[in-house]
Amino acid sequence: MPTTHHTKMLILGSGPAGLSAAIYAARAGMQPIVVQGLQPGGQLTITTDVENYPGFAEVIQGPWLMEQMTAQATHVGTSMIWDTIVDVDLSQRPFRLTGDGGDVYLAETLVIATGAQAKWLGVPGEQELGGKGVSACATCDGFFYRGKKVVVIGGGNTAVEEALYLTNHSDDVTLIHRRDSLRAEKILQDRLHANPKIKILWNKKVERFVAGEGTAGLVGVALIDTVTGEASHEPTDGGFVAIGHSPSTILFEGKLPLDEDGYLLVTPGTSLTAIPGVFAAGDVTDKVYRQAVTAAGMGCMAALDAERFLAEAEYRAMAEA
Ligand code: NDP
Repeated sequence: MPTTHHTKMLILGSGPAGLSAAIYAARAGMQPIVVQGLQPGGQLTITTDVENYPGFAEVIQGPWLMEQMTAQATHVGTSMIWDTIVDVDLSQRPFRLTGDGGDVYLAETLVIATGAQAKWLGVPGEQELGGKGVSACATCDGFFYRGKKVVVIGGGNTAVEEALYLTNHSDDVTLIHRRDSLRAEKILQDRLHANPKIKILWNKKVERFVAGEGTAGLVGVALIDTVTGEASHEPTDGGFVAIGHSPSTILFEGKLPLDEDGYLLVTPGTSLTAIPGVFAAGDVTDKVYRQAVTAAGMGCMAALDAERFLAEAEYRAMAEA
């Protein structure tokens, strides 16, 4: 039976940005509701080791960190709801959002913390072989390639981290990059070059993921040399696409200003979007830093901005009465 929820603050997304906003808003007595979305806990739930989140001297696990943040948000008074928003009306306050089961959310303020998703190459075989050899998450699926040959496509931090991670499972990891230099941080590049289990194929573009006969999954990738145009085939059991992310903003197209890559635009140095009462935090608005700790900081900013917005609105209403 669909329900109508009223709240001072509705938060979309349950990664570090959404949960930090929730912790601050709940402690300010706003009784926030978090709609968790399709991937409760966000991208950190598909990560393993986290060694750069301040406060933990030892390596911690991403899923554990998100469990802790969720528990903390709940303890201070956040309602967590497992739903996916399918419709948004921001034309007046309270904002009206609808979940896929028909629940309606009436929100005095809205914090958008819907994060970002992995990008795909869009080449033949990629979709068909999803789950049968092709993946965008080494930490989720690397285990299945124990002792097998794997390739990682990309040249940024993600690709290098995934290649390094895969050496926990495989002794034969190949990084395929379309240029002759990586954009990953130097410390990661140094680790990559020092790892004897990893080889690099420079100037190679994946043209196609190749399936085996019958029910066999991925058996290789068809490559083109980006300099010479020469075609080649690299045999592999697993192909990990690690070429960046797209922000989850489809719900807001035509409703809020987005940049050319689809990221939500905010007033620099704040979480304010173009609509008063609507705030954005984390990877959905940040293509530069994209860290758990920066997302958490932005979630805090959104909660404080929303609190201030409501206080001013209440003050104005009182003054006009
Ligand atoms: P990036 O955008 O940094 O890198 C994407 C890589 O994929 C690039 O090397 C790019 O090649 C390549 N690529 C993009 N499209 C294609 C395509 N169609 N075919 C082949 N290759 C392609 O994404 P990341 O996910 O690596 O990183 C995103 C951000 O997150 C960065 O700011 C990064 O620093 C940060 N990050 C930080 C981490 C950390 O601090 N521990 C961990 C992971 C990410 P080209 O170089 O030619 O453009």
